[in-house]
Amino acid sequence: SLTIGIVGLPNVGKSTLFNALTKNDVLAANYPFATIEPNVGVVGVPDPRLTKLAEIFDSQRVLPATVDFVDIAGIVRGASEGEGLGNKFLANIRESDAICQVIRAFKDENVVHVDGKVSPKDDIETINTELILADLQTIEKVLPRLTKEARLQKDKAAVLAAVEAARTVLEEGRTLFSAGITKGTDTGVLLHDLHLLTTKPFLYVFNVDEEELVDEDFKNEQRALVAPAEAIFLNAKIESELIELDDDEALELLQSMGQDEPGLATLARVGFETLGLQTYLTAGPKEARAWTIKKGATAPEAAGVIHTDFQKGFIKAEIVSFDDLVACGSIPEARAKGKARMEGKDYVMQDGDVVEFRFNV
Ligand code: GDP
Repeated sequence: SLTIGIVGLPNVGKSTLFNALTKNDVLAANYPFATIEPNVGVVGVPDPRLTKLAEIFDSQRVLPATVDFVDIAGIVRGASEGEGLGNKFLANIRESDAICQVIRAFKDENVVHVDGKVSPKDDIETINTELILADLQTIEKVLPRLTKEARLQKDKAAVLAAVEAARTVLEEGRTLFSAGITKGTDTGVLLHDLHLLTTKPFLYVFNVDEEELVDEDFKNEQRALVAPAEAIFLNAKIESELIELDDDEALELLQSMGQDEPGLATLARVGFETLGLQTYLTAGPKEARAWTIKKGATAPEAAGVIHTDFQKGFIKAEIVSFDDLVACGSIPEARAKGKARMEGKDYVMQDGDVVEFRFNV
């Protein structure tokens, strides 16, 4: 599955946030015998539609989609010059599918900032610099060979041009992601074999004081700072308290702070989006469940997420949109009203599809 690596300078609240994430671990709750790496937190993506489906189908349990967060410990500054820990830090980031930087914005004299002052802008630059330098090193390493090959092979000329374009962006001190060069783009595809770090999608968690949670001016400033990446605002300490409370108490505390969901829930949802993922839904008496697919997945590919045999033997998918199902109240009623569609193997799954697959075994 796809993972989001959590990075950040020391003392910004990474461990506090990560501990809250792992306590929220849905794997541990639903699969008590699954082995989970200590540095991985598997977090449920909140989806109120599942509760509604569980009502309609009288399901025994609800299984949300999940996002894997990986705690990437290690030194930050100087990583790109790296031996030992620096290399491990970069290798861990290379294995992640998205990069989530935790940034300190809370004020607390008792917690030392490594650079002596709280400055989200400087902290972002510190991390970016290491990643940019690492990418530049990768590029310098391949350039001589690539230049030679490009003289003889047409297809390599396109790769060379992409690599040179990437180098220009990086030399300006920008990440490739911020310049719009990501995995899915034409240039990104040509760069694929280099496994560059800064083509990965970024997202930012601002660990803020309670006042800032509702300070729209402050939040807009930070959003502008990190665009096109998403910004999430939470207080890691409060998050770690929230998970100890039952749902009603947690909601009351959240509402007293002007929030409608825990920051961890927002983080899971935005993280899931950032990874380019989407869900479809299934429901029955056993469970109401969200299944994870890539955006643009076809019906057979979606079936394959449940079981490879479902994909191999795929015949049709019976689909009712969630909204139609709720309006009709049941599958038979949706069928009677012509709201159930039979889709074939070219169908591209849509968000909110409630599905039952027909397949040969
Ligand atoms: P890490 O080094 O980035 O993993 O940071 P930690 O999670 O260990 O946090 C460093 C210190 O900051 C600890 O003493 C935390 O209790 C404190 N801390 C973390 N989050 C917050 C916060 O939101 N507000 C305040 N005031 N302190 C925090």
